[in-house]
Amino acid sequence: MKILFASNAGSSDDSWISLLQTALPDTEILSWNETNETTGAELAIVWRPDATLLSREPNLKAIFNLGAGVDGILKLPGLHDGIEIYRLEDAGMSVQMAEYCAHAVLDASRRFADYRALQAQGQWKTMAPIQRHRWPIGVLGLGLMGERVAQTLSALEYPVSGWSRSQKSIPGIQCFAGSDTFEAFLKQTRVLINILPLTPETHGILNKETLSQLLPNAYVINVARGEHLVDDDLLALMDAGHIDGATLDVFTEEPLPAAHPFWTHPKVTITPHIAAASLRDQTVAQISDKIRAWSRGETVSGRVNLQTGY
Ligand code: NAP
Repeated sequence: MKILFASNAGSSDDSWISLLQTALPDTEILSWNETNETTGAELAIVWRPDATLLSREPNLKAIFNLGAGVDGILKLPGLHDGIEIYRLEDAGMSVQMAEYCAHAVLDASRRFADYRALQAQGQWKTMAPIQRHRWPIGVLGLGLMGERVAQTLSALEYPVSGWSRSQKSIPGIQCFAGSDTFEAFLKQTRVLINILPLTPETHGILNKETLSQLLPNAYVINVARGEHLVDDDLLALMDAGHIDGATLDVFTEEPLPAAHPFWTHPKVTITPHIAAASLRDQTVAQISDKIRAWSRGETVSGRVNLQTGY
């Protein structure tokens, strides 16, 4: 069986292909970047694939994504119901996501930025200790990433709630479900962490109307996709003093353009889409397991629902 490897991640394909070939010795792994011709592959392993993927490879039956978010694949021209899409399920990402979000929450709530500023001035000065009940955290999305983040912050004894499409029951977490509960969820949240998939329903969900419902002195952490956030609305709410700051890992345009105000805004911390990276060994192990199961005709977990978009 031929499998096409098509990644626009910017790094070399060679080590991925060699690891995948070793894990799947009965297949032939071909590199998108080394041929301009149709390979006839039935399967593709992709990350941010080229828009011509489906027109060049009409035999594809299934696509395996090297990440959790499949919004880029669902935009591919020519995608149809006959092509199955599978996403990466955790594979070492949820623990990274939890530590990233915990770091951002602690930086804000324990005032580490203020202490760094005091150090720079050579000042030994203490500020009031943290009162956890004043830092209620709301996690948007309680999937593989969101549940881990919520549980990690709950273990640090912050009050944590979460919002998802279907009702969840997670010990220690106040769970909200569905659009009818969104306002109530926002109104009792000070630190908002977004880990939703990007779908038509969630595009632009962090906007003036929703963010202004957060508690005063709010803080926003976006680790999902840039298109969830209306940048100008966040900037306006920070300038108005309703939102104290933001930690942003993802942006509508990546790399973030040099002239974007987030680069220099004193209330914004940015990172270059590194909150939770796909770890090579764990990713190869999981994707090769999925491909072996798919080849045996078994049900493979992590299949994307084309209707909901995740
Ligand atoms: P997941 O397991 O599919 O979880 C998605 C969660 O979002 C589920 O709880 C789902 O609700 C909820 N949801 C989806 N649409 C909703 C809606 N319209 N209203 C309310 N809740 C909704 O996904 P995951 O593995 O946690 O990953 C989430 C996203 O994180 C990915 O799509 C990706 O964009 C992003 N990500 C970013 C990085 C990074 O480095 N920055 C790394 C990995 C992932 P149900 O449970 O009810 O279905």
